[in-house]
Amino acid sequence: MGLVELVRRAVSRIGVALIAALALVTSLQASESKSDDVGIIEIAINYSGLTNPVRVEMFVRNRSRTAVSVLRWNLPERRLTKRLFQVSRNGNAVSYNGVLGKRLPPTSSDYIAIGPGDELEFIVDLERDYDLSQAGEYEVKYNTEFLSHSIQGGTPEKSLPRVQADSVRFSLLPRDVSSKAPDITNPPEGGDTTFDSCSATQQNILLVSRQQAIAYSGGGKHYFDTQLMGSRYQSWFGDSTPARYSLAASKMSAIDAAMNSAGVQFLCRSAADPECDGVIAYVYGNQAYGIYICPIFWSISPLATFTSCASQAGTIIHEMSHFNVVAGTDDHEYCKSASLALADSNPSLAINNADSWEFFAENTPFQGGFGPLSPSFLTLTMETPIRGSSLFVDGFE
Ligand SMILES: [Zn+2]
Repeated sequence: MGLVELVRRAVSRIGVALIAALALVTSLQASESKSDDVGIIEIAINYSGLTNPVRVEMFVRNRSRTAVSVLRWNLPERRLTKRLFQVSRNGNAVSYNGVLGKRLPPTSSDYIAIGPGDELEFIVDLERDYDLSQAGEYEVKYNTEFLSHSIQGGTPEKSLPRVQADSVRFSLLPRDVSSKAPDITNPPEGGDTTFDSCSATQQNILLVSRQQAIAYSGGGKHYFDTQLMGSRYQSWFGDSTPARYSLAASKMSAIDAAMNSAGVQFLCRSAADPECDGVIAYVYGNQAYGIYICPIFWSISPLATFTSCASQAGTIIHEMSHFNVVAGTDDHEYCKSASLALADSNPSLAINNADSWEFFAENTPFQGGFGPLSPSFLTLTMETPIRGSSLFVDGFE
């Protein structure tokens, strides 16, 4: 049991008494100070001198009078599965080389409650996931949107916590370091699909998934190629500006090109893989095109459904979008309701959110443009475009 676990259990034991006391306080003061209802989370990062590998400490303090629940994967409780920190060297962004995992919707056990006045402490092995090999002046900052957009039980929390975060700066001198990221064992040829540790059945499922993903990405690319704009775009990416639309179009185009012609290696992992804890699939953004498949993948629906948070084919879109050489996306939010809320609140983050690309490409339920289509229908229609057909009309403005 880690330190965090201990703190959390201690908090939950006194939780009932606290809630009762808080209910009284809240009802007495509700009229005079609305802002007290909103949690304030303070984040501090410390650098305590050179260790090898480089580590930082992160403190998360609840400065409000109410408990705040945050998703545990938005805290560096274990190995990072998303780009939680912005790291720069001499003012230039340092790339995140760690795991980018796709998850199922959170359940109650995925939240950590931080009681009023409580503090959590984490030790972050920064060097495992960021390239700190070069000497220079570094700055490390927590990506605060991960806490300010916390979603409780699939819907946005009524009172989102406000997050105040400090960055830390430190200098690194030239050192001997070796890159820790695993290498893809057999880089496949362009367009090929190869496998590592996948059974014959699993290989078949993955081949079908890639084929369907090609249909999804083809439909998505067609939407931008024909300059469509309407509910489908707005649902997943929010308000459009010419610059953002053009950036989104280039990301969709890159996803589709990679889906069709990249040499993809699927690496089938067992539950013993620590990176697979609660994760459907994951990649390293700087290691195109290796896609790690976790056991949960085999239990999800092959194709998108109206409510699904993940389909097998859509997961391939999600993972492909992560590679730096493709669309360089992050995981800001997972699943549909959180991704829809992100599009509303922050369109710039939404076009950089892998699940938003998955759902845009799946287009389920249908919101205009092309698709979802079967691979054979897509091939047929791509050869004989039917411009002007009502099939493509999606609320032109
Ligand atoms: Zn992801």
